[in-house]
Amino acid sequence: MPRADYIPTIGLEVHCQVRTNSKMFCACPTGFGDDPNTNVCPVCMGLPGALPVLNKAAIEQTILAGLLLDCETPEISKWDRKNYFYPDMPKNYQISQFDLPLCIGGGVPLYDHNYPKDHQKDIAHPGKKVKLTRIHLEEDVAKSTHLANSSVIDFNRAGTPLMEIVSDPDIDSPEEAFAYLKTLQQILIYGGISDADMEKGQLRCDVNVSVRKNESDELGTKVELKNMNSISAVRRALHYELDRQCEELDAGIEQIQSTRRWDDDSGETQLMRTKEDAHDYRYFPDPDLLPVRAGAIVDRMRKHVPELPHEKAARYADEFGLNEYDAAVLTSDQDLAHYFEAAANATEAKPKKVANWVTNTLLKHLNDENLGAAESPVPAEKLAATVNLVESGQVSNNQAKEVFEALWSAPEKTPAAIAREMGFEPADTGAVDAIIDEVIAANPDKVEEIRGGNEKLVNFLTGQVMKASQGKANPKQVTESLRAKLL
Ligand code: ZN
Ligand code: MN
Repeated sequence: MPRADYIPTIGLEVHCQVRTNSKMFCACPTGFGDDPNTNVCPVCMGLPGALPVLNKAAIEQTILAGLLLDCETPEISKWDRKNYFYPDMPKNYQISQFDLPLCIGGGVPLYDHNYPKDHQKDIAHPGKKVKLTRIHLEEDVAKSTHLANSSVIDFNRAGTPLMEIVSDPDIDSPEEAFAYLKTLQQILIYGGISDADMEKGQLRCDVNVSVRKNESDELGTKVELKNMNSISAVRRALHYELDRQCEELDAGIEQIQSTRRWDDDSGETQLMRTKEDAHDYRYFPDPDLLPVRAGAIVDRMRKHVPELPHEKAARYADEFGLNEYDAAVLTSDQDLAHYFEAAANATEAKPKKVANWVTNTLLKHLNDENLGAAESPVPAEKLAATVNLVESGQVSNNQAKEVFEALWSAPEKTPAAIAREMGFEPADTGAVDAIIDEVIAANPDKVEEIRGGNEKLVNFLTGQVMKASQGKANPKQVTESLRAKLL
């Protein structure tokens, strides 16, 4: 195992489209899925003489991201031209920020539940926070598609506000990289800063990775990985690349600073270019744009800082007595958290019970139909009313699950009405009592054992009563009266 002899050092550069109505330097709409080259103008097509105008909302959202991630927001930040020649940027420079970005420092907390499922028991640094270098704002480029004999280009994406979030080389494993991206994505969505959907290219990630023998050694030669389009692909690519670098170093092959492309189908990285043909961007200040003063924007955006997932989870533990797992699941998504709180507040049942209903029954139904919590056909109040039916002894827990099932396809009804329709009224106590007596009479051996101390067998008798009552009796009450009669 060559990997065991080396220490990995990983840093991530995340490009994230900021959620705004219009583009970074023009009034064209942003969006995904429109006909190619329909949302364009002279500015975002890079035509000569067109002048950029700053998008205030994009700057506000980037500063909000900085506040969410504990960054510093320097008073002055400015715009620079990053020169390069590619058809996806016809004015031949990207407007970006070089030495004075909007946000500096800060960090991304790695939420334990955001590590890969198969890695939950091996988290090396629980509660770790990965340090950030900076966050700057720039413009996205056009989207090129390469066909067999030609390339086509769509400028709808050109000029979309793009936030670049750069981490320190502070990540120690592919699993930490995974948790970093998941948590970052979750926080950006919480803040309404981006939809951060990797499949739609709203979140893109480049990785810098190197290895060294000892903690005291200087950092190894770094390789940049590109073209990973899911968080799990980042993890896979990193494992492949760490193995490759360690094996080569063991074989005496020096690493060269280079950029490699991840091919998810073959599961390999391939060399794209080495340092010799690296870009020289020749950054210089953009003469068309004034610097930004952050002060007033920072004050304004402070009011928009939401309760973050880990803060919400801590409150749920405190206020509702939920365990860490339930709190993490419920706060993973803001809409789900709203749903839970509304349901918990609409019933006298223990919040833990409501949490179980939401994380098991509701989530299963939502996932089956690929719906978000806000789109649930069953509103929180009706889930609460279903839980109340169990609490009041009207129906058993299993019957309530059936009620919920029916409610899902007929949400206009009330849970109580559905319970009645399904014949789940609490059975007439006299009749149930008669059944209980019959069951006792029919099982003298079990009764003797129960009286002899084997109390678990009461459950067996409860089962017999439930069967005889065709599921209409309330198991909780049956058990209670059995115990009263026998113990
Ligand atoms: Zn435009
Ligand atoms: Mn960039």
